Amino acid sequence: MDYLPVFLNLAGRRVLVVGGGAVGARKVELLLKAHAQVRVVAPALHAELALFRDAGRIEHIGAPFEPHHLDGAVFALAATDRPEVNRAVAAAAAERGLFVNVVDSDADSSCVMPAIIDRSPVIVAVGTGGHAPVLARRLRAQLEALLPERLGELARLAGRVRERVHRLLPDLIARRRFWERLFAGRVASQVLAGHGAAAEQLLEQELGQLQSPRAERVHGSDAAGAARTRAGEVYLIGAGPGDPDLLTLRAQQLLQQADVVLYDRLVSAAVVARARRDAERVYVGKEPGRHDITQERIHALLLEYAARGLRVARLKGGDPLVFGRGGEEVEVLRRAGVPIVIVPGVTAALGAAASAELPLTQRGLSQAVTLVTAVGEGAERLDWRALAAPLHTAVFYMGIAQLPRIVEQLLAHGAPPERAAAIIERATLPEQRVLSAPLGELLRRASTALIRAPALLIVGDVAAQARATLGAHAFPQNVKDMARA
Ligand code: SAH
Repeated sequence: MDYLPVFLNLAGRRVLVVGGGAVGARKVELLLKAHAQVRVVAPALHAELALFRDAGRIEHIGAPFEPHHLDGAVFALAATDRPEVNRAVAAAAAERGLFVNVVDSDADSSCVMPAIIDRSPVIVAVGTGGHAPVLARRLRAQLEALLPERLGELARLAGRVRERVHRLLPDLIARRRFWERLFAGRVASQVLAGHGAAAEQLLEQELGQLQSPRAERVHGSDAAGAARTRAGEVYLIGAGPGDPDLLTLRAQQLLQQADVVLYDRLVSAAVVARARRDAERVYVGKEPGRHDITQERIHALLLEYAARGLRVARLKGGDPLVFGRGGEEVEVLRRAGVPIVIVPGVTAALGAAASAELPLTQRGLSQAVTLVTAVGEGAERLDWRALAAPLHTAVFYMGIAQLPRIVEQLLAHGAPPERAAAIIERATLPEQRVLSAPLGELLRRASTALIRAPALLIVGDVAAQARATLGAHAFPQNVKDMARA
């Protein structure tokens, strides 16, 4: 190990920064975050540093560096663009036994500034001993995506009850197990999802259990035994339209911790593959027209797994609250008191629009978007006139089987046959196909192309802009011009 990582407590301590340019400004910003007393030596100051000086947040010496500027400093940074000045700073600091960092020169530095991921009070520092700063930055980007935004909040919550836990669990091993479970369980997932109050409540419950006489036994027993005595939780996760890279960061974080994954028919294999390797995977898809598993059975399974103390990921195609019956599952879980985290997903309409390069709203072409399904009892009562109106985009979910009826209704309620429409089949997946045709020709073209579910129908002038893989030239030039205007 060439370097020992340490975290410096600089609060109220003086740090000298020599150099008043953009690089110096970045370092000063960081030092101020760490509550250091910053003294900047530079003949001229970068605009941002001038603001800090005017606000009285830094001390500025507008003269060339001299060793006595180091008086009272515990640490020094040289960030000028003149190597001889940087070296002079390094030499003067070394003489006084101070650590010094010279920007872009490891040879002159006695310490290296790491790349950091700041989730204060949690801080991750990445260093490559000066060998590959760009590699450190790449690692930083990867860790940024991996570490939840509210990790710091979780640490603070733990800090608040640390002494209490210490009193309740004097045994070191029991205590460690308690924390392990806390950080992997529902208190943590509620904090990270932004439900601070719910998390505090759950934490109180867990601490309450420690006080009960049963607690010792639970903590002394094996993990499975501990799991049985406590309830789990359910993550209702939007899996997006298919491309796994469209999962949100939170979806990926929770998929990595779920013990069991219940997934629908429209969840792509690539998304299911992002779950933890040893998670149990349960297919609960409902084939159209067939009813191999009922919604009630899914509710029962969710409750059953949660009651066993498991962390259950319920993966739904697109967004869980858009035509996904997510509302019913939430209601059942709420009634049973099972903690829930809902993670939004990219709904099919948004995925399809992006991958067909078709705007859903556009000045002068569409003022509103409706996500609609013509399946089910409500279909007769839909406001077809509104769906057929100009300056509007209607996105039909589950519409392929109903295509003839949808087209007929739109035409009957005022949509002209030349109104643009697009069908996007298997949006965002490698097999995606996009058919673009005016409403009047849509049925014929869709049946020739053998369009299959899952597919979305988008109706509105904006649809003429779809980058079609089928029938790209279906529109008269004037319609396309209109769409691009
Ligand atoms: N909750 C989902 C929708 C479920 S309803 C969401 O928010 O996207 C199922 C319908 O969604 C399908 O019949 C189809 O119309 C649409 N759909 C889902 N995934 C799709 C995809 N990859 N491409 C096109 N349509 C899709």
